[in-house]
Amino acid sequence: VSRPKLQAPRGTQDVLPEHAADRLALEAAARGILEGAGYARIETPAFEATELFARGVGASTDIVQKEMYTFEDAGGRSLTLRPEGTAPVCRAYLEHGMHKAPQPVKLWYLSSFFRYERAQAGRYRQFWQVGAEAIGSDDPAVDAETITLLHALLTELGVRDVALRLGSLGRPATRATYRELLVGHLRAHEDLLSDDVRERIDLNPLRAFDADHAGTRQVMASAPLLVDHLAPEDAEHFAEVRARLDVAGIDHEVDPTLVRGLDYYTRTVFEFTSGVLGAQSAVGGGGRYDGLIEQLGGPPTPGIGWAAGVERILLGAEPRPQPRALCDLYVAGTTTAAFALATEARRAGLGVQLELAGRSEKGRLKAAARAGALWTALVHDDTGAIELRDMESGEQEPVESASAVVAQVIRGRHIA
Ligand code: AMP
Repeated sequence: VSRPKLQAPRGTQDVLPEHAADRLALEAAARGILEGAGYARIETPAFEATELFARGVGASTDIVQKEMYTFEDAGGRSLTLRPEGTAPVCRAYLEHGMHKAPQPVKLWYLSSFFRYERAQAGRYRQFWQVGAEAIGSDDPAVDAETITLLHALLTELGVRDVALRLGSLGRPATRATYRELLVGHLRAHEDLLSDDVRERIDLNPLRAFDADHAGTRQVMASAPLLVDHLAPEDAEHFAEVRARLDVAGIDHEVDPTLVRGLDYYTRTVFEFTSGVLGAQSAVGGGGRYDGLIEQLGGPPTPGIGWAAGVERILLGAEPRPQPRALCDLYVAGTTTAAFALATEARRAGLGVQLELAGRSEKGRLKAAARAGALWTALVHDDTGAIELRDMESGEQEPVESASAVVAQVIRGRHIA
């Protein structure tokens, strides 16, 4: 009997060792940038009560309507694999009384998320996001700072052809009034709209701005825009955010039709795209969610955050991000003296690789370069003499003893 071959489920992928280095580099860059700015790492469960996303993401969104992996566990609870990170982080903020800590509470995460989407290049059913949330302040400086941090991350990782679009959704009351206006406009031109948009006029009229359908686009070209209807405080807030992005030298385009897929956004929304990603060009985005914590049962608490797709960052980055070298010293020798040197260097806290394949002396140097070693100790098989090579400059010098090698590499490390 032949059995069908087992494969990873559609829309998922194995992260093989050759991609481990990219991800490590991404994590190190995110950690450096975000923890440097006072964000602390948080990890929430991979699944949550379904109710959290229904309330937190919004019942009318694509995510909640079509994309959640929801199941009942053996205890009869309805659970959902997290499709996004903001609602879980806000739940944790409330559950652990973080409102008592100095505000804003700044948190970051790097985790995998799950959405039942049509699988294609750059779009998976399990994917990773790096994200940041700043909860407890509505200062426009928080908006601008968090956008700046995502910009710094994409820049450091070498994501090509990045553009930033920015908008403001105002407050719920403005949105409600505006919604009526927009629904009226859509109703007046119903015959031109796609079926999909027409069926959802009342449920989610904003979505019409996202449509590719020609008739719908024609209708939307003359649609009223939310940015023209903002309350004065919200318009002022938006101007303050933009002024700070300007002084930070971060180019952005105001896009009055920017619609994010989640219901909870208020005021600032933004999205970074990369021109090299094709159809799935969004690398990361986010916005302010001043009503979310209250919607989850907490006191009124402002917040803002973003998430960026790890796979898309790596697809958009050239050259691929490289982590800091972990190999301080490559011991290019096969004798017991070489083994003793490697052991001594490791005990001194260095990252050490040892020649294990009996390569020729020339082959050993190549292997050392491949390992990304900062230094190579060439231990001659017959004489036992040691030469230490600085792999960056190519300078090579005889060294007296194993201890001298270790001391030199540690000194070199401090200089670097
Ligand atoms: P969102 O949470 O929808 O705002 O998504 C934030 C970022 O996560 C997007 O800009 C993408 O880079 C990434 N992303 C979202 N959905 C997927 C997916 N299905 N596969 C891969 N990356 C995704």
